[in-house]
Amino acid sequence: MGIDIHPIPLGPDRCYIIREKGIIMIDSGSPNKGKKFIKSINKISIKPEHIKLIILTHGHWDHIGSAKEIKGITGAKIAMHRLEKDCLEKSLKPIPPAVNRWAHILTKIMARFIPLVNIPSTDVDIILENEEFSLVEFGIPGKIIHTPGHSSGSVSILLETGDVFVGDLAMNSFPLRLSPGLPIFADDIQKVKDSWKLLLDKGAKMVYPAHGNPFSAEIIRKSL
Ligand SMILES: [Zn+2]
Ligand SMILES: [Zn+2]
Repeated sequence: MGIDIHPIPLGPDRCYIIREKGIIMIDSGSPNKGKKFIKSINKISIKPEHIKLIILTHGHWDHIGSAKEIKGITGAKIAMHRLEKDCLEKSLKPIPPAVNRWAHILTKIMARFIPLVNIPSTDVDIILENEEFSLVEFGIPGKIIHTPGHSSGSVSILLETGDVFVGDLAMNSFPLRLSPGLPIFADDIQKVKDSWKLLLDKGAKMVYPAHGNPFSAEIIRKSL
């Protein structure tokens, strides 16, 4: 059986549904996207209760905003790294440091509206550590890998096919970037590069960012 990858845009964040023997979801979008989520999975004939796991790549508002709502709709467990679970459990809204001048300008804009964003809090069911986490028990041939840099608790999902879902460890859409590449916001840009070396070593081939279209991992390899 092949692996199906379905992008589900929920606000500025492109979430993904991955289906093989089991079905999992990556990220949950910005707040109040429950209805859009239901419409999107109806279109691809997936029943909410068939989604067993929601992996949150990191704790930024545009990735965790609808986690509580979608957990309620699906009954899925939420997996998130230990270093960022407070974002969801305590509704924290960290703003990541800018890497370049354009990102500085965007940070000023974000600083105005992020305080107005309300993230409904809920518990994280599976706390990810720094070790790899196999997705085999969820019917997906792949694993979750700790890939810090954009934020300290960022994780990526690497499938056996070489498809890798990286959250914001790469970016590929306006207003963030005009072409695919490294994130313009990062807690530690050196750690971003180290995480990419790890993913490339482990066989990452096709990159699925949370902002923008998929692209070849060779683009990242060349930029390191
Ligand atoms: Zn982010
Ligand atoms: Zn993001």
